[in-house]
Amino acid sequence: MSTVLVVEDERDIRDLLRRYLEREGYAVLTAATGTEGITAVEDGAADLVLLDLGLPDVDGFEVLSVARLHRVPVVALTARSAVEDRIRGLEQGADDYVTKPFSPREVVLRVGAVLARRGVASPDTAETYGGGRLQLDRSRHEATWDGAVLDLTPTEWGILTALADRPGRVSSRLELVNRVRGYEFAGYERTIDSHVKNLRHKLAPDGATVVETVLGAGYRLGVRRDA
Ligand code: CA
Repeated sequence: MSTVLVVEDERDIRDLLRRYLEREGYAVLTAATGTEGITAVEDGAADLVLLDLGLPDVDGFEVLSVARLHRVPVVALTARSAVEDRIRGLEQGADDYVTKPFSPREVVLRVGAVLARRGVASPDTAETYGGGRLQLDRSRHEATWDGAVLDLTPTEWGILTALADRPGRVSSRLELVNRVRGYEFAGYERTIDSHVKNLRHKLAPDGATVVETVLGAGYRLGVRRDA
């Protein structure tokens, strides 16, 4: 089980994040001030820090630098207007950030993606590819790219998982039709191309490298499954 330390002075947000993280199977520690946050990081119990940069007592960036020192990954929470904070946060080593107001679901996914990239097991059963950039959660029929949920149609989901099932191998259009429709229907082959096009669009700007075209043969997943 991974432990997430939530450093956030607003109680409602802290409780909301705790609830969502616990529901996903994480152990959660909380700190209401930067000083408490630094102490908790130094205690070494956190696998990841979810850090509000706008804290009342110390500069959030101070907490960030302590976490960096202890090699604990950080997902920063910033105000939507605080573009400078986001840039500074990423420059100073935050692994990712989410702007307020946020969807708690998105925060949880980003936490999972960062932990997966760091090689810490995520509590759910998502498969990851390309160093954690692509995650497939088959029980939820959910795909994420860089922590953001892809809004896929059932056909696009079917194509993506069919390609993922054959690592390194090419799937012909007819095989993909068979997978997503359950039968082989030659007339449907051409429409696979437009589904792939839409899928790539949702993976932009990396679409063409995630779903590779193999001329004259079909398609192949361009990212490797993580060990
Ligand atoms: Ca705050």
